[in-house]
Amino acid sequence: MAERGKQTVRDLRRGSRSTLLQRLYFEGPLSRQELGRISGLSAGSVSNVIGELLADGLVEECGSVDSDGGRPRILLQVPPDRAHLVGVDVGETQVRVALFDLGLTELAASDHPLSDSGHDADHVVELILTGLSEVLADSGIDPATVLGVGVGVPGIVEQGDPGTDGLGIVVHSQTVDWDAVPLGRMLRAGTDLPLYVDNGAKTLGQAEMWFGAGRGARHAVVALFGSGVGACVIADGARFRGATSSAGEWGHTKVHVGGRLCRCGSRGCLEAYVGAEALVERWGRAPAGSSEKAGLAALLAAAEAGEPEAVGLLTEAAEYFGAAIADLINLFNPERIVIGGWAGLMLGPRLLPDIRDAATAYALRFPRAQTSIDLGRLGPDAVTVGAATLPLWHFLESGGDLPERLAGAAPALR
Ligand SMILES: [Zn+2]
Repeated sequence: MAERGKQTVRDLRRGSRSTLLQRLYFEGPLSRQELGRISGLSAGSVSNVIGELLADGLVEECGSVDSDGGRPRILLQVPPDRAHLVGVDVGETQVRVALFDLGLTELAASDHPLSDSGHDADHVVELILTGLSEVLADSGIDPATVLGVGVGVPGIVEQGDPGTDGLGIVVHSQTVDWDAVPLGRMLRAGTDLPLYVDNGAKTLGQAEMWFGAGRGARHAVVALFGSGVGACVIADGARFRGATSSAGEWGHTKVHVGGRLCRCGSRGCLEAYVGAEALVERWGRAPAGSSEKAGLAALLAAAEAGEPEAVGLLTEAAEYFGAAIADLINLFNPERIVIGGWAGLMLGPRLLPDIRDAATAYALRFPRAQTSIDLGRLGPDAVTVGAATLPLWHFLESGGDLPERLAGAAPALR
């Protein structure tokens, strides 16, 4: 019983640390008084926990504000330079590795296009590890200050047992031919840093919900529109994962029974009609040898110039996309739908009005009237930011749990 009692006290303390750290991270700078009011913790608890966080170097004082007639109130914040995060986007056409400070300001980045060997898993792991060494060297930071490496991948991620140091992480992706790739074990062979892996659409969703167009929504869908198409469903403030984390494979919902062959091997998937790869292929007029991004930009330019085939293709894509969004509205009743991803941001300004109209035409009236449809705000690199939120979330949720090499090292880092 005594052990259980001790455990409970420890859990409570960790819960209070996590609550205050999250408030300061997302809403700071804040005074102790404001923290007490918005967290519901007593003034004594706030004072104790903030004292601990200050001693650990996880919170710092950053000025003061006058209070009505009383003493000025000291403002507190999470120091952005206290630790660092790495985000990796294993995209459809390149591997991007970026290093951020705790405030998610990008300090260094490294891009490696995926060449002929495509998504060969050994090649991708090599590019990730090369990129990791490059951003650490370019930024000049002490690698010991990195809280972890988050990786966004195009596929379904099995997390394995917790406490196995990421070794159990396995990725399944039919579109890039990854059949149970043991990504955790492969990366672990090249780095000692804590590893976190999740689907790229889900990491993009996390980033837009925390810092972008989804902020403040409890029920939302963030749609990733790139070479392929995916979605991150947020239900009641939490990501909807399903039994084995594959929920949100929206790109492979069927829009045409017996239709075009998809990269997943099935037919008639949304992705086979509106994914950037499919659009460029169907148009067939992109300059030979151009990248997918250049191809899509050429398609857009042709449509802007009034070329009938390009106009027709994009008009049809907007209708498919809007109809598929109508399905999301009917299924999940979100208050907000955010369209992100590089292709979404490239085509969005032209297609958004048609996408909204199609969603209105195909969705049930009542839920459609409650839903806004907007473009993402974090730019085409939001997957890397999202990947970096994986170790960040672990840090905040654990109440500022630092790896042993970092704990107590606050003065040396400042
Ligand atoms: Zn498919």
